[in-house]
Amino acid sequence: VKYVYSFGQQTDGDATMRNLLGGKGANLAEMANIGLPVPPGFTITTEVCTYYYDNGRTYPASLQAEMEDAVAKMEKQMGTKFGATDGMPLLVAVRSGARDSMPGMMDTILNLGLNDESVEALTKATDNPRFAWDCYRRFIQMYGDVVLGVQAGPNEDVEPFEAVIHAFKHEVYGKDVIDSSLTAEDQQELVKRFKQLVKDRTGKGFPNDPWDQLRGAAGAVFGSWMNDRAIVYRQKYGIPAEWGTAVNVQAMVFGNTGETSGSGVAFTRNPANGENEFYGEFLVNAQGEDVVAGVRTPEPVAKLEEVMPKSYKELLKVRKKLEKHFKDVQDVEFTIQEGKLYMLQTRNGKRTAAAALKFSIDMVKERLINWETAVLRNPADQLDQLLAPIFDAADVKKAKLLATGLPAGPGAASGKIYFNAERAVDAEARGEKVLLTRVETSPEDLRGMIAAEGILTARGGVSSHAALVARQMGKVCVCGAGELQIDYDKKTLTVGKNVFKEGDFLSIDGTTGQVFAGEIKAAPSEIIDGLINGKKAAQKTEKYQSYIKLMEWCSKATRLQVRTNADTPEQTKNAIAFGASGIGLTRTEHMFFEGDRIDAMREMILADSLEGRQKALKKLLPYQRKDFAGIFKALKGLPATIRLLDPPLHEFLPHTKEQQMDLARTLGIKVEKIMQRVADLHEFNPMLGFRGCRLAISYPEIAEMQARAIFEAAAQCEKKGIKATPEVMIPLVGFKKELDIQTEIVHRVAKEVQEKKGVKLSYTVGTMIEVPRGALTADEIAQTAEFFSFGTNDLTQTCLGMSRDDTGSFLGKYQEVEILKANPFASIDQTGVGQLVETAIEKGRKTRPGIKLGICGEHGGDPASVKFCHNAGLTYVSCSPFRVPVARLAAAQAAI
Ligand code: ADP
Ligand code: MG
Ligand code: MG
Repeated sequence: VKYVYSFGQQTDGDATMRNLLGGKGANLAEMANIGLPVPPGFTITTEVCTYYYDNGRTYPASLQAEMEDAVAKMEKQMGTKFGATDGMPLLVAVRSGARDSMPGMMDTILNLGLNDESVEALTKATDNPRFAWDCYRRFIQMYGDVVLGVQAGPNEDVEPFEAVIHAFKHEVYGKDVIDSSLTAEDQQELVKRFKQLVKDRTGKGFPNDPWDQLRGAAGAVFGSWMNDRAIVYRQKYGIPAEWGTAVNVQAMVFGNTGETSGSGVAFTRNPANGENEFYGEFLVNAQGEDVVAGVRTPEPVAKLEEVMPKSYKELLKVRKKLEKHFKDVQDVEFTIQEGKLYMLQTRNGKRTAAAALKFSIDMVKERLINWETAVLRNPADQLDQLLAPIFDAADVKKAKLLATGLPAGPGAASGKIYFNAERAVDAEARGEKVLLTRVETSPEDLRGMIAAEGILTARGGVSSHAALVARQMGKVCVCGAGELQIDYDKKTLTVGKNVFKEGDFLSIDGTTGQVFAGEIKAAPSEIIDGLINGKKAAQKTEKYQSYIKLMEWCSKATRLQVRTNADTPEQTKNAIAFGASGIGLTRTEHMFFEGDRIDAMREMILADSLEGRQKALKKLLPYQRKDFAGIFKALKGLPATIRLLDPPLHEFLPHTKEQQMDLARTLGIKVEKIMQRVADLHEFNPMLGFRGCRLAISYPEIAEMQARAIFEAAAQCEKKGIKATPEVMIPLVGFKKELDIQTEIVHRVAKEVQEKKGVKLSYTVGTMIEVPRGALTADEIAQTAEFFSFGTNDLTQTCLGMSRDDTGSFLGKYQEVEILKANPFASIDQTGVGQLVETAIEKGRKTRPGIKLGICGEHGGDPASVKFCHNAGLTYVSCSPFRVPVARLAAAQAAI
């Protein structure tokens, strides 16, 4: 097996090999292949990482020899020598490289290969002692921190190396001076103190031998794959631990040699709003992380044109070439050494949903990609960012503008400010809306960022940690709002004369970068305003029109239909505006809670005779009929799957003494009777109790009333020329006989209504498949059922034997140890539940080849589940109205 892949004059890999080389390594190889100026180097493959963990943290035997070969190639190309004590030494960067860049992975180590001898050689070769000792000092600091673990302990506020620098500056200059003003001698002294610090903290000397250094750094990269932060991140994004990380070793180029050098990061287009403009920042005379570290404020990349016009021109050429080659927006890192440009990294740029939409539409126009690719470029699970509310313009005018930072994550967010991640997480758990507010964020804040509605920082640019993570998570974010003064100790945020305490409300607009005092009401986005509210002005916006175009493409591609779960005409209308092709689930019980219907419902439950129940049901009939008529009207002929009563009856009864007294008065009965009935209906496990079709097996008059309401409403509509297509659905069926008994009732009532009203109705009767027995005997059930709708919520509960409402105590742990990759109630368990679905489909079709198949339940709006449904050959998925666009996009993507 080959463990080491070189890039440079000779390049072994390419962009297709990201599984083996990691994202960074594969793209470094690709850039070298297309002739871009990439410093030479090599990638140690992810297979070595896997080997490392499988073999008690050891390496394959052939690795060292392969690395020596690869280093020799670098030396040849650079004309330098690794660990040289004479002539220019080869220094390297050691960079981690998972398939996708990942917070928590080891920080890059620069200038590796320096020691007390080679630093002299570097001084001599460059005739620049300040530079040489600056490199050496940085190297010891990075290596000491990252590899040797010399870091702040629990009782230290300042990183130990920074503390040494601070003390030194005060000792020599009497104040804090900027790093770049330190002399060669200063750096030399710092090196001495750093080495002492390492010795004090670790009990060992700093490794002198470049090969020891290199092996140590590579080991640290592999080691970081299993650190806590990396594990948390992988969990959130469902990345398997087996993937492993690669290690990149690359010849150093130097952005810190003086005023003709520098270092920067850029996007080939604006990743926040999608504009086709070069976007990024750089620092003169800086190395590596200086740009994103926020120590000095970087300049916008366009300024390079003034400072280094030749390099800028070259960079613009690279920008074009990269987009043309990768056919996507790139996020690049570059360094300029004495006027010469080097590319250090490229990857597809993370983008907001708004930017993704604009990129995809623009690139089709530019003929860079086709429309199918454009559909795939819009992440389905981010689409609802576009539908997210924006601040109401009128309210914003009234609000007090405190500061303006950089717009780093679009959308509007209002919430209580919290200054650390832990308290933000706690507040969110209490149900508060949270704005995580920090001077700047670091990977330690990840949990807090997940919990927050929005993220606000006082420092940091568009490539700062906060901006990066917000873009990825789709969080609203304003960063670098410099006017904000945050005092962590006092837990206050001060802007001019205004002082805010932790827990006070602020509002941020991540599209404009504005920070406002207090809470601001949010208003619908242009897309919602245009689609749902029919506002003409909104429909003229570019965003709206791009969205419409995208959905047109989706319709063109898709096979799987998207229906909606809706119980009211209003919800139905919204869903249809979003492109739903009907209702996949109407939960009739929701209708029983409105107004005084609940009294009639309770009367029905409390009645102890058939007559009593029928009397109460008679009161409910007109309500239900009206509801159904409204829904049919809103549907304009599209089908509606209507589920008969499903929940356990006790859910409808009052449970406090006070409510029970009230009800007793209303119904004119004794409160004891109500208490008795509540006690009777108590179940140890209502989820598996007297519910679903079991209700109407015992009380057929309930099914009869509901069927009557459905068909009378349909007849009413038909008479007015509105087509109604009800699909009557019997819940929780596990036995064919259950379905038979109720189907007979439905057909009988349908016949009666049709004869009485003199209309011909088109309807079907089918069932939910939501208990394993139903799925396993689907061939029998399909003899009666004209359609199946998979109730994947209950099917998941019953298949896994996990009550949805009781998973809180163990689900987190299950995901942590990767028993479950995702929450099975959010994303369908394809191996287990999926098998039941597939079995039922196969058996159902055997009996009834054309059987209509759908899924309702939370999974219908989850992109991964939608894809599963497409592959399983379902006719439709059904989800809540506002998830319809997401499901349509996911369905189209599954078909492409
Ligand atoms: P990350 O994945 O955190 O971006 P990188 O490996 O890209 O880490 O390294 C971070 C920074 O270190 C780069 O942006 C670049 O400025 C600097 N760097 C990396 N490799 C080199 C190199 N070969 N020469 C000079 N600087 C480098
Ligand atoms: Mg990088
Ligand atoms: Mg159910």
